[in-house]
Amino acid sequence: MAGFYMMDMSPRQEELGDEDRLERAPLGTFLLSFLDQEWQGLADEAMELRRRAYLMEQAQRGFDSLRRRFQGAHPLFRQELDRLSASADSLYALGQWAGEMARFHPLLYAAVERVLDRDTGDGGADGRYRALLSEIGELSRLAERFHEGVSVRYHMGAGGGKLCYGAKDLRILLYLSFEYMVSQGTAFRRCLNCGRYFIPFSVHTCYCDRPAGEGKTCKSYAAKANYSKRLQADEGRSFYVKQNNAYQMRVRRSPELYPQEEYRLWQTRVRSLLEQLDRGEVSWEAFQEQAKLPGRRRPGAVKGRKEPPQAE
Ligand SMILES: [Zn+2]
Repeated sequence: MAGFYMMDMSPRQEELGDEDRLERAPLGTFLLSFLDQEWQGLADEAMELRRRAYLMEQAQRGFDSLRRRFQGAHPLFRQELDRLSASADSLYALGQWAGEMARFHPLLYAAVERVLDRDTGDGGADGRYRALLSEIGELSRLAERFHEGVSVRYHMGAGGGKLCYGAKDLRILLYLSFEYMVSQGTAFRRCLNCGRYFIPFSVHTCYCDRPAGEGKTCKSYAAKANYSKRLQADEGRSFYVKQNNAYQMRVRRSPELYPQEEYRLWQTRVRSLLEQLDRGEVSWEAFQEQAKLPGRRRPGAVKGRKEPPQAE
């Protein structure tokens, strides 16, 4: 089975697959799936499993265990693995392929970071891409080689035929999808929870939809975290109101022990602490500690000085 893959792209969607079948997904799905994989770890493990496997079945089991990691990955990676599993030395083939992907990964990652990540660069994506190509010779040589490795195919689909890019090497299609997104000005952003790249729905989206454990996604985690932050801010406000009322009462009852100016200073300080609590710059515990009322004072005691000794 020879690997030959095809790709078609539009501003919102991409279709990828082999000559028989193309699968539709949101634009960027393939590239993001590539960026998410731990290619070097996979390559190392494949070689290590191969070294330890004395029997064919052991090698096969090793291959299958590595293949399970691709359950959530893009279908094209799984298709490539199926192809590799048919080769005589499948673990070796997997190790070679993963190694190739691992060497390509930092280059494509840097390209995404420099060109598509709107938070790290300014100006147009096109200008940033041109600057990157002139800066990294390795990338521009690779781009040239990739372009020469692309062919065009007419794909007969159920909904009609269309012209597609075709290539044997998945890296070529990955690079083309990157270039397509540069041409579209597609913006990538790093998720504030997991740190991985995603394509934000709007400029306000800061979290991705990847699973983040306990049946939640990064986005739903963030919603919960913001909610508890808001609760904390509300709690801080009611804590302040209570303290403030108590302080006010003391100032009114015994102004000689609790001077008005001191009270005003306390108020200013705690209000600014409250704002810091809102912004998450100070913890709830630290806020409570710093917003405490001054200790109780007995009549006759003077602040900052010991009580004069009692006359005998
Ligand atoms: Zn995330």
